[in-house]
Amino acid sequence: MARDDAVSKKILIYALLIGLSATLVFMQVNPYWLPGVLLLCLLLSDAVNRTPALGASEADGLMRMLFYQSPSMIAKIDMVSGQVIQINSMLSLTLQVAHPYQVIGHPVDTLFPKDDEKKLRKALHTLQRKGVLHQYATEVVTLDGNKIPVTVDGVVTYGENEPNTAYLYITNISSIKKVESKLQANRNLLQSIIDNTLEAVIITNKSGKIIEWNPQAAALVGQVKNNVINKSISQVIMGTADARLTLEKDINHYLSNQKTKYIGKRETFHILNNHNKKILVASCCFPVTSDDGSPIFCFFIHDISAELKAREQEMRLSTIVRQTEDAVVSLDSQFHIDSWNNGAARIFGLNESEALLKPIGSILHKTHAERLTDQLKRLIQSNESLQYEFSTNTQASEANHFMASLNLIRYDKDHFGISLIIRDITELKRNEIRIRELMTELEVSNKELQSFAYIASHDLKEPLRGIKNYAMILKDDYVGLLDEAGVGFLNSLIKSCGRLELLLESLLHYSKVGNLKLSLQPLDAQRVINDVKDGIHHLLKQKNAIIKVDGDLPKVMADESRLNEVFTNLITNGLKYNDKPEPLIQIGVAPEKSSNESVCFYVKDNGIGIEKSKRDTVFEIFQRLHKKEEYGGGAGAGLTITKRIIERHKGSIWLESTPGEGTTFYFTLLKSDNREPISVNTGIELLIKSDQDNGNTTNRIN
Ligand code: ADP
Repeated sequence: MARDDAVSKKILIYALLIGLSATLVFMQVNPYWLPGVLLLCLLLSDAVNRTPALGASEADGLMRMLFYQSPSMIAKIDMVSGQVIQINSMLSLTLQVAHPYQVIGHPVDTLFPKDDEKKLRKALHTLQRKGVLHQYATEVVTLDGNKIPVTVDGVVTYGENEPNTAYLYITNISSIKKVESKLQANRNLLQSIIDNTLEAVIITNKSGKIIEWNPQAAALVGQVKNNVINKSISQVIMGTADARLTLEKDINHYLSNQKTKYIGKRETFHILNNHNKKILVASCCFPVTSDDGSPIFCFFIHDISAELKAREQEMRLSTIVRQTEDAVVSLDSQFHIDSWNNGAARIFGLNESEALLKPIGSILHKTHAERLTDQLKRLIQSNESLQYEFSTNTQASEANHFMASLNLIRYDKDHFGISLIIRDITELKRNEIRIRELMTELEVSNKELQSFAYIASHDLKEPLRGIKNYAMILKDDYVGLLDEAGVGFLNSLIKSCGRLELLLESLLHYSKVGNLKLSLQPLDAQRVINDVKDGIHHLLKQKNAIIKVDGDLPKVMADESRLNEVFTNLITNGLKYNDKPEPLIQIGVAPEKSSNESVCFYVKDNGIGIEKSKRDTVFEIFQRLHKKEEYGGGAGAGLTITKRIIERHKGSIWLESTPGEGTTFYFTLLKSDNREPISVNTGIELLIKSDQDNGNTTNRIN
């Protein structure tokens, strides 16, 4: 019996000391205490075993002291009745009972939550069966119903063959739970940072094997996490040689001498994604010591291709802006100068440091400042870019002219800036004035030329007719006095007079067309063509020719008799320069060559065609592509006159041709579109717009 007592006491001491050690571990006391505690445990057990000097009452005392004074909770229970036999002070304290008898004699279940009963039964069963219970996780319920997380270890002391008493060693793990949940929260926070950061985050162990891979890394490389975990980083980040070198070798360097140029420093290199696309990245690596003391490596990789492109673009643009001749200035929403280029320094006579941050109005002369402020306000209201011209001059020098162009730069809904570009257009203005003067001179000289051509052709006709008449009289009345050669000369003279007459007639007509007053009105082109057909029906019959009109012809703004002349010229040429037995003329509208404003007509023949090199020549006056007599002769002025008529209608004429197959003439005329009739007086019109200058102070803009 004494031997049994010794054994059970020894077991109890083991239990108490194991419990004590566990408490120390849980309370995060230095683990080196553990062997010491175990040693103490052995010594005590041995003392109980071997030391007969320690009397039973002394051992009891020691036991009681260990039981009651233990910093851990201990409950002694009767395994037969399942009732609590004894509890120690720490358990009483934790349960907040005034007296242990509030628990003693009650079923052990009272210590634990009701809803955990099943688990408790199972644990007690294990305890009964195996004699020990390890780390059963549950809660103890205090008198006022609070639940405290605990683990329960147990050991059974044996009576007569049957287990009769058990010691439950209960460890409060609330602080561990708290630490655990804090740790979990930190882990979650870290994970969410890793998952949601803009950069690709890759974490490797010390051998370079990937242990973490965030969604951005997946997007950058094109590999999902499951495919890369446990693979070597240098296998997964397929980069150019520099990338592999950087990633892999630097880990090794770090491990061998704890020092590398790359660790913690931003490096750029190229990687290849799964589509073999080369991506420029910036990467940074930080070693971190893990739980087991070995280093892990966190790589932060950022795709900088777009950033680099934007930087290059910005450099390009800023170089262009800096170097441009124009003043390129940006203003903030309060009209203060934000940026200032070399052009601005030149035009305004102020360098960058003198201009920056100043209100734009403060560096301008009052007149210009007020005008610019008005325009800036208009710009903000209308949100549409605007331009205006202004001039500066001194009495001493000529005016300088400028064109200002204002644009709104919207950064976002509420923020905006303004770009102000000022171009020195003085030279342009001077050239414009010069061109205008030249145009006036040209107009005068053209008018003189036209009247000269008119007068010459008109006045020369008279003596020419006289020469021709006398030659006819000579031929008719004096033929007997001339020999055969004389008669031949006389015939040539008469023929040349006829040719000269034709040329003069054409010249006269050409100069008339240039000066004629045109009356442009909505005209039905179909009706004009019908009139032309009527006018040449003998020729059509004689040539066995057909005129075919493709589709409906629209109304156009034209002078009726001149349009009749255009169609007549083109149709008769199509018949004249035609070697086919059945000449065919097709007339219609070419929609693809028409515009919103104008209609493009075509007149197509199946004649002899015109070589490519001669397509412009045919529009020059007196230019024929054939000998005088060939194809029925002609003055070579018809197409020149046609071109002049079209141009006076604000249209243009050109041709396409395939020699041997035929020629197509295209010409454009303004659509009628309910326009009012227009009267065109002269053939020469100034194309330069009127001057809009104003402003009048100094030479520079200030
Ligand atoms: P003309 O017919 O009086 O000679 P034009 O000015 O009408 O003068 O034509 C100039 C030249 O262009 C003609 O001599 C002819 O050689 C060529 N030409 C004009 N129309 C056609 C055409 N439809 N097909 C081929 N050649 C043409």
